[in-house]
Amino acid sequence: MPELPEVETIARQLRELVVGRRISEFSSLWHRVTEPLPAKHFAKRLVGREITGVGRRGKFVVLELDGGEALIVSLRMTGKLLFREASSPEDAYVRAVVGFADGTFLRFADTRKFGRMAIVDVRDLSEEPHERVAHAPLHGSLGVEPLSRRFTRRSFAELLARRGRAAIKPLLLDQRAIAGVGNIYAIEAIWRARIHPRRTAGSLRPLEVARLHEAIKWVLRKGIRFGGASRRDYVDARGNAGRMQQEFNVYGRAGEPCPRCGRAIVRTVVGGRGTFNCPRCQRASILRG
Ligand SMILES: [Zn+2]
Repeated sequence: MPELPEVETIARQLRELVVGRRISEFSSLWHRVTEPLPAKHFAKRLVGREITGVGRRGKFVVLELDGGEALIVSLRMTGKLLFREASSPEDAYVRAVVGFADGTFLRFADTRKFGRMAIVDVRDLSEEPHERVAHAPLHGSLGVEPLSRRFTRRSFAELLARRGRAAIKPLLLDQRAIAGVGNIYAIEAIWRARIHPRRTAGSLRPLEVARLHEAIKWVLRKGIRFGGASRRDYVDARGNAGRMQQEFNVYGRAGEPCPRCGRAIVRTVVGGRGTFNCPRCQRASILRG
């Protein structure tokens, strides 16, 4: 499932490819892509508008439109947002197409059909809670962007104190707390910070909070630098795979030696999600840790 680095990679590419292009058509091949809006209404609101910028909020690709609205795309499990030209070969599992006046287009391909598109007010996407408008069709309220200036060590410590009884790993996955971190990067970050995934947020000592704060930013930046991680489905806006999967230290590596201490990595389930950790350098007890 695409997380912050994968979505950021797509957004950066699309910034080069679609900004300044005018939308000339929209077609949906799967009615739920635009729900609750029927595709016809969706098309009416998009056609004729120019894309003025491309960004990312949490795990959403944000295509800014003239007039203060944005088309946001949730890739969910298997969604791909592919920039194509008239001469490009067909793609499989295309669910929607955004066509531009010059004959190029964006294909939204999605095997599992969980991906969605929505048109929102750009103020909906703000990190400032009071600026959010009440109705936000796809994302509800999203937390802080972990690569923004707002994500300080202090604000992170305050979040952990507020949610002190929550296990740290599921808390990192909570999009209302921190937007964009998913299972893979959470696993890598807590390994780097040498923290057990079941530790409660409130049990982290200041040094561990500082290590984890640094680790979250470090793994996300590294993920972006390597073009995201392609385990199964993810490809970027040009259809190319990322390379971050080769850089994982613990994710998907049960039974392999921990790169730091050599002990075999174990797989467990925390908060309903599969997780990987080193039983030696990520200990459950803070007394021994
Ligand atoms: Zn280890």
